[in-house]
Amino acid sequence: MQIDDRKSVVIDFFQQFNRTTTALLLLDYDGTLAPFQTDRHQAYPYPGIVPILERIIGSGRTKLAIVSGRPVIEIQNLLSQLTDFEIWGAHGLEHLSADGFYRRTEIEPNTLAIIRQAEDWLLQAGLLPITEIKPGGIAVHWRGLSASEVEHVQSRIQEGWNKFEGVQGIKLLAFDGGIELRAARPDKGDVIDAILKTTDAATPVAFLGDDFTDEDAFRVLNGRGLSVLVRHEYRKTIADAWLQPPQELIDFLATWSDIAGMGTR
Ligand SMILES: [Mg+2]
Repeated sequence: MQIDDRKSVVIDFFQQFNRTTTALLLLDYDGTLAPFQTDRHQAYPYPGIVPILERIIGSGRTKLAIVSGRPVIEIQNLLSQLTDFEIWGAHGLEHLSADGFYRRTEIEPNTLAIIRQAEDWLLQAGLLPITEIKPGGIAVHWRGLSASEVEHVQSRIQEGWNKFEGVQGIKLLAFDGGIELRAARPDKGDVIDAILKTTDAATPVAFLGDDFTDEDAFRVLNGRGLSVLVRHEYRKTIADAWLQPPQELIDFLATWSDIAGMGTR
């Protein structure tokens, strides 16, 4: 696909939104709305993003949902100024509706046992200080470590977690700054699927994400909505469009806000 085609799908999408009353804006968090930080609890959105999202929600013409690998509570903390939006956390294991109803999906006991085993190994390997225990998974973070420390951690993980590769119900996910071992399902594609099931077929839907786990969401959305890769450098993707953050992302969200706002005037 040519760069011009990637821009024109966005223009087409906004024209469609212009003709309807409501739309659905689905956003990944890390690497999409917020730049990566060594301290992941300080990874706030790019300047200017939160006020635009506030305007979008306030227009009443957009249902906004964050779809993240993070637990719901962390997204709430990082977006504490925002209200009236939905959060899908831990790749869809957790769901907090816009009106505050919380639901968590149970994981298969066998899958849970394997996750515990992987966790025990990390403890014995002395890697717990860089480990994050999450709903349905464990992430090892190496952002901020020196190149030689990263290499050391990676080879230790390779050694200890190798046996979990390809195990039924388990997925090993390399992400920007670490690796995660988690329950294979739900994934972000399952989240999009669940959202689409309760959405009118004529409602415009867009999903923006940066990472490999977002490809599951792009795949499910393909042919039904707009999928957008948000990333500084282009990489191979099945997304319809590509935006470079923060400026192109801000322009995209500002356009969204303008169109949503027109309906309320
Ligand atoms: Mg991300």
